[in-house]
Amino acid sequence: MNKFKLLFKIKKTVSVEFSILADTFYKMESTRKRLELTQYLVELFEKTPQEVISKIVYLLQGKLRPDFEGVELGVAEKLAIRAISKSSGIPIKKIEDEYRKGGDLGHAATVILEQKTQTTFLVEDITVERVYETLFKIAKLEGNRSQDMKMKYISSLLNDASPLEASFILKLLLGTLRLGIAENTVMDALAIAFSGNKENRKILEHAYNVSSDLGKVAEVLASEGLEGVKEFKIILFNPIRPMLADRVKSEQEAIEKMGSEFAAEYKLDGERVQLHIEGDKVVLFSRSLENISSYYPDIIEKIPKTIQAENIILEAEAVAINENTGEFLPFQELMHRRRKYKIEKAVTQYPITVNLFDVLYCNGKSCLELDYKERRKKMEKVVKENDFVKHIPMTIVKNENDIEDFFENSINAGSEGLMLKILDSPYQAGSRGSHWLKLKREYQNELGDSLDLVVIGGFFGKGRRTGNYGTLLLATYEEDEDTFTSICKVGTGFSDEDLDQLYQILNPKVTIKKNPRIDSEMESDVWFEPELVIEVVASEITLSPIHKAARDKIRKGAGLALRFPKFTGKMRIEKMAEDASTNEEVITLYQGQKKVAHDKSLM
Ligand code: AMP
Repeated sequence: MNKFKLLFKIKKTVSVEFSILADTFYKMESTRKRLELTQYLVELFEKTPQEVISKIVYLLQGKLRPDFEGVELGVAEKLAIRAISKSSGIPIKKIEDEYRKGGDLGHAATVILEQKTQTTFLVEDITVERVYETLFKIAKLEGNRSQDMKMKYISSLLNDASPLEASFILKLLLGTLRLGIAENTVMDALAIAFSGNKENRKILEHAYNVSSDLGKVAEVLASEGLEGVKEFKIILFNPIRPMLADRVKSEQEAIEKMGSEFAAEYKLDGERVQLHIEGDKVVLFSRSLENISSYYPDIIEKIPKTIQAENIILEAEAVAINENTGEFLPFQELMHRRRKYKIEKAVTQYPITVNLFDVLYCNGKSCLELDYKERRKKMEKVVKENDFVKHIPMTIVKNENDIEDFFENSINAGSEGLMLKILDSPYQAGSRGSHWLKLKREYQNELGDSLDLVVIGGFFGKGRRTGNYGTLLLATYEEDEDTFTSICKVGTGFSDEDLDQLYQILNPKVTIKKNPRIDSEMESDVWFEPELVIEVVASEITLSPIHKAARDKIRKGAGLALRFPKFTGKMRIEKMAEDASTNEEVITLYQGQKKVAHDKSLM
C-alpha cells in the first residue's frame, strides 16, 4: 500500500460521516417508543469508533460538553437564516417564508437547499468531527466580530452539507433538536452495544453518577470496556449527581420504613449547593449541576477559612436569612441572586447562611461508601462553624415523639420539615430511595403534600390576564417511558407578579411542535419545552378519562388528575423536569388518600 493510501485509510477509520448521524436523528425524530429509540442508538454506537463516541453522545443530547462546563450552543434564528441564504444563494425573504409555513428552521432549510441555485465545486466531506469542531468554535466565540465569524463558520458547513445534514446542523445550532431521549436510554444503548447486556447499565450509571459526564463514560467504555468504567473515581471540581429523598406523610410511616433509630435533620427551604474546595479555589454546583459560583461570591470568599482539609466536596443548603433575627426566609428570596450584573448589591441585600449536611470527598478520597454517621462525624471535624457556615441541625430519633418534637423545632425555626436519614447507609449518588425520606409540613390541602409538576402547555389569559398565560397545563414524570404525562390544568394561586415572571420564563420555551416526550391528549394554545417545574397543591386525586398520568395503572382507560389544583407560589427553578413528581408517587398518594377515606369511614 503506498503512503498516501495508508494515510487515507487511517483517517477513514477514525472519522464518521455526519450523514450517518443525520440519518439516525431523522429516524429517531419519528418515534417516541423507547425500545425503537434504543435500537437506533445501538446501531449507531456499533458503527462508531471510540475516538468519536463522546462527541456523538454529547450531540445526541444537543450538547457539546457536559452541562457543568457551561459550553452553550445557541445561535439566533436571524443569523442562521442569513447563513442559509449566503450558502445557497436563495434570498432571505424566501427562506423566511418557508420557515413561517412550517415553523421549523431545520426543516425549512431542507426544503430550501433542495432548490439550491448555487453549485459548489469543491465539496469537503462532512464528518461528525468537523461539525463538532465547528460548533465548538461557534460556541466559544465572543466579542464584536463574533457574529461575522459565526456566519462564516455556519455557511461553510452548509455549503458542503446535504439538505438533511443541513437541517440537523441547524437544529443543533439553534438548540431545537428534539429526539426525545434521556440519559437512561443512552446508557441502555451503550450497555447493549458494548457489552451485549442491558443489565450492565448499572455499571455505567455508577460511573455517570460520580462524573456527571456521559460522553466520558461512553469513551472509557468504548476504549477500556466495563473494567475501565468500574474504575471511575470522583474528580474534584466535576460535580457528583445528588442523592435524592422519597417522601413520607407521617412520623409513623417514617418509622415503618426506617426502623428503630435514625437521624433527623432540618429540611431547610433554600438552594442545594455542592461545594468543591481546594485551598482558595471554590466551585459551586446547583442541584441540576450547573456552575452557580457567580451567584454566591460570599460563599467563595468565606468558606475556605472554615475548612481543615486539603480538599473537600460538601453539600449544603444555602438559605436566605433575616440578618437581624437570624430567621430563615423562603426559597423565593434567593431568586434575587440569579443575575449576571450587580451581584454585590444582591449579596448585601439578600444575605444567606450555608447549612452543611454532607461530605462526599475529603483529602483526595471518596466518602460515598462511608455510612451516614461517619460522614456526619467527618464533616463536623473538618469544617469549623461560624456565623455564616453551619452544620444543619441534627438529632437521633427513636420514636414518633422524638420526631414530632424535632419537627416542631424545625418548623418554628422557619424550615419546611425534616429529612430523615438511615444511620448506616452510604451516599447513593444520583438515586432516589428510602435511605433518605422527607417529611414536610402539611399544607392546607387534603392531599397532605404538594407536587412538583412540569409546565408543558399554556393557555392565553383573558381580562386582567391578557398578554400572559392565564392557565398552565402540567405534567408528572413517567420514569419507565421517560415521558411527561398531563395531570391537570392550573389557573389559581397566581399573583399578577407570578404571571409576569412565568411569562418571561416560559416564552423562550415555546415550541411549534409538541415535544415527543409530552404525553397529552389535551390540546393547549402553546406547547413548551418540558423544563420548568412548579409546585402545586390540590384537594384530591381523581380518575380521569383525559389525563395521561398513570394511565391504565389504576383502571383501564383512565389516568389520574388533580382536583382543584393551586399554584403555591414556588417555581422550582433548581429542579430539572426529570426531578418532578413521578407517576409512581402520584399513585402512592392516590392510594394513601383512599386508605384515609377508608379509615375515616371505620371510625
Ligand atoms: P425536595 O426538593 O422536596 O425533593 O427535597 C429535597 C431537597 O431538600 C434537597 O435537594 C435539598 O435542596 C433540600 N434539603 C434541605 N435540607 C436538607 C437536608 N438536611 N438534607 C438533604 N437535603 C436537604
